[in-house]
Order: sequence, then C-alpha cells, then structure tokens
Amino acid sequence: MKRFNIITIFPHIFESYFSESIVGRASAKKLIDIKVKNLRDFTSDKHKTVDDSPFGGGAGMVLKVQPIYDCVGFLKKKIKDKKEKTRVILFSAKGKRYTQSDAKRLAKYENLIMICGRYEGVDERVAKYIADEEISIGDYVLTGGEIPAMIVVDSIARLIPGVLGNDESSRDESHREIGYLEHPQYTRPEIFNDWKVPGVLLSGNHEEIEKWRKENTKSEVKK
Ligand code: SAM
Repeated sequence: MKRFNIITIFPHIFESYFSESIVGRASAKKLIDIKVKNLRDFTSDKHKTVDDSPFGGGAGMVLKVQPIYDCVGFLKKKIKDKKEKTRVILFSAKGKRYTQSDAKRLAKYENLIMICGRYEGVDERVAKYIADEEISIGDYVLTGGEIPAMIVVDSIARLIPGVLGNDESSRDESHREIGYLEHPQYTRPEIFNDWKVPGVLLSGNHEEIEKWRKENTKSEVKK
C-alpha cells in the first residue's frame, strides 16, 4: 500500500477532496493510505506556535524548523523508515517544477512525507537538512502547500494498479511520454448548436477511427 503523510497547519482542507471520487475509493479499498498531520501537535510551547518572524527582518512569518523536524521524525519512526522506500517532499514555489515523470518516479516510493508551507515560507533548514526534494507545481505563488499536496497525491494515486477502473486505466493519456497529448474526445449528442462531431468517429470503422486518433494526438508541448 502507498502511504501519503501530509504535514500542514490546516488539516481540514483535505477532508472533502480525499473522501470523494477516485481517490476516496482508492482509500476505501486500502490501495492508498492518506494521513494528515497537524503541525501544531509537534510544537513545544503552550501556544502551539508554528511560526516566527524572519531573521534579518522583513514582512510575514516563517514556519519554524523544530515542529517540522519532530513531525517528520515521528512519521519516519512510525512507518519504520527504510531510506530507499521513503521520500520527504517540501512544497515550495522555488522548487523543481512537477511533471508526470515526477509522478511516475515518486509512485515507486512506499511512503511519501509531504510538508506544506504557509505564510512567507519555511525555515530554509527544512529544505537543506530534512526534505529530500523541493517541488513546485508551477511558476506562481499560492498561499500554502496544501493544493500542491492534493495535486501530487492525486497524480500518483491514479498510477497505482487498481485505483482506476479498467476503462479509465486503459486510456492512452496525455503526458504518457514527454510532449504527448491525447486525441480529442466527444460524446452524445452528435450535433449541438450546429457543432458536429467528426464523422469518422461515428463511422464504426475501427481502423479509420484509430488512424484519426493517431493523427490527432500531439507530440509537441502546448504553448
Ligand atoms: N515567500 C515564498 C516565495 O517567494 O517563494 C512564497 C511562500 S508561499 C506564500 C507559502 C507556501 O505555499 C510555500 O512555503 C509553499 O509551501 C507553498 N507554495 C506556494 N506556491 C507554491 C508552488 N507554486 N508550488 C508548490 N508550493 C507552493
């Protein structure tokens, strides 16, 4: 079973998304196990402080290294960490851009521990000494790492055998190799607002349909 451990200061954000649809079913079938840890449970003061102002001054607050260190340590101990089976990910707008090949690569680990930043970010010692890698989901800045965590869990979960139904898994999907984009899809009705489905798809001629689909996949990266 693939285990996803998410460290966040907003654990409730995940409840709805992870209980619905394909990811929800995968959890129910015990193909994946998603655990969300509240970083505040690993603080050492009575106010459960997870952040502090940045050294050197400047706007905003920075997530402290100690609660993250303790939380990651707790999780590694719990999953009886074997280094080659566990990967610690820090979400960061400065990280390496996430792609389908990262999803395939990370799907090989048994345990993923994901750290969601907030505010101005995370004490740099987390990136330097605790995380194995920093992942960005795109060249823009979000308020926190929770949406990136959902994206990473979702994209990896659907690669795990049994998570998608037969129909879904047999598809030639976009990004199956670099630059590959799937052919267009249509469903009923055949005509809507004068907008017609390509005739070949209604022909029943499987050879022609395959040919059309091949011709209508794209192998260049979309602008
Ligand atoms: N001050 C930081 C900077 O300029 O790079 C941005 C901090 S952001 C407001 C707070 C947190 O959201 C980050 O620590 C990270 O965990 C998450 N985050 C924001 N944008 C992200 C992105 N594109 N990919 C992954 N995580 C992101």
